[in-house]
Amino acid sequence: MTNKVGWNFDNSYEQLPRSLFSVQGPTPVQAPKLVLFNDALAKSLGLNRDLLHESEGLEALAGNAIPNGDYGLAQAYAGHQFGNFTMLGDGRALLLGEQITPQGDRFDIQLKGSGRTAFSRGGDGRAALGPMLREYLISEAMHHLGIPTTRSLAVVSTGEDVRRETNLPGAILTRVAASHLRVGTFQYAAGRGDADDLKALAHYAIDRHYPEVAGAENPSLAFLQSVIKRQAELIARWQLVGFVHGVMNTDNTTISGETIDYGPCAFMDVYDPKTVFSSIDVQGRYAYGNQPYMVNWNLARFAESLVPLLHDEQEQAVKLAQQSIEEFKHVYLNEWFTGMRKKLGLFHEQEEDEKLIESLLKLMEETKADYTNTFRALTFGKQEETELAASDQFGDWNKQWLARLDAQVESKEEAQQLMKTHNPAVIPRNHRVEEALEAAVERDDYSVAKKLLVVLSDPYAHSEEQEAFAHVPKSCKNGYVTYCGT
Ligand code: AMP
Ligand code: MG
Repeated sequence: MTNKVGWNFDNSYEQLPRSLFSVQGPTPVQAPKLVLFNDALAKSLGLNRDLLHESEGLEALAGNAIPNGDYGLAQAYAGHQFGNFTMLGDGRALLLGEQITPQGDRFDIQLKGSGRTAFSRGGDGRAALGPMLREYLISEAMHHLGIPTTRSLAVVSTGEDVRRETNLPGAILTRVAASHLRVGTFQYAAGRGDADDLKALAHYAIDRHYPEVAGAENPSLAFLQSVIKRQAELIARWQLVGFVHGVMNTDNTTISGETIDYGPCAFMDVYDPKTVFSSIDVQGRYAYGNQPYMVNWNLARFAESLVPLLHDEQEQAVKLAQQSIEEFKHVYLNEWFTGMRKKLGLFHEQEEDEKLIESLLKLMEETKADYTNTFRALTFGKQEETELAASDQFGDWNKQWLARLDAQVESKEEAQQLMKTHNPAVIPRNHRVEEALEAAVERDDYSVAKKLLVVLSDPYAHSEEQEAFAHVPKSCKNGYVTYCGT
């Protein structure tokens, strides 16, 4: 039943086998203060903004009270972290409930940084303010770029310090997700070896995210294929905007196809497939150019965990899993080329497009061109202002591209319109994100973050106001390093 704040929980996860979660409440914090709040998201969830700002509502966002009294789940999962298999689980997060929106949609409401759980191992169950603000900023930017993602409803500072290398101010993020089911959730269930639990989990995921496959001849196989397709589409979207996730472990690969876990993520400025920001990714495993291969690898782990459900005979099941995984690259490449064509204003597929796209990227790499601003300049016919212009070969490329645009039945204006809606004017530039985090964490000034959020809320507007947020100062171009969101 809906309460006065608008919480309207229907908790289906607790119907799953008990091995998949542990029930517990959050640990209260001393002095919660609401520092960021997402009005539009609250409204779409059916929540009352004003009441959430008042003490009773705020207590829920701080983990000092649970909206429906007694629910709070830490979910069990496993995962391959940088290739190594480990038992994990929500070590610092709790599912408060599944909110049913006025439109009838279901979203997990999860607190991140809410205290220790059965899965915390040696951790304190807490989160630092900087990384929670970073997750809020980047996840919201991704949402407005049109990329499936978990979202951020609020950040509450706790008034308590968390001990990392130094003492840092603590915070709790309220994360909103289609669900928190991960490849790692399936690895966990499969690893325990209880086929009934695995089956129950697969049924649950199908019902929640892929109801259309429930009637298929082999629903588990159709489910696997659907997850592969959604993840392939998702990663293509990341690549198209230059997003580097940074920690694509199997526990950070969702079943719903949403981007999750904004730790050391960042957007690439200069185009370079080897781009890595994360301080711990010394091998470049999760570099920009590796992301499609890495998600493909994660999906192979997903397929393995589903083997007991795919066919009665194991050999046959493995074959079905392998065939499904083979499909990944076709879906991915198709999605990526289609997106790239749109970024170049091309409406129809032609054989030479592949070469046109690849030679552009090669030129961008050679001239150290800014990824976002190159496409933005092409959109507005300002290619002479880009780093590309320094290359002798650019003239030829440009001629070919313009001829290709000329040969289309669609007008130049239509092509430009297509480009404007696929080439963002603004992305969360690293120096802008840092500036916002520094003002907030060091000076308790949230105006910079709020302004950035406004600018990022309409990335395809190409407005004058966005101009200042599109540039990268020369001093910021190299060596940006991010740290895991702890
Ligand atoms: P992540 O790197 O955020 O994907 O987290 C990997 C695993 O470490 C997950 O199981 C988290 O719940 C757990 N974890 C991360 N930070 C903490 C913390 N401060 N306390 C307890 N567990 C944590
Ligand atoms: Mg994670």
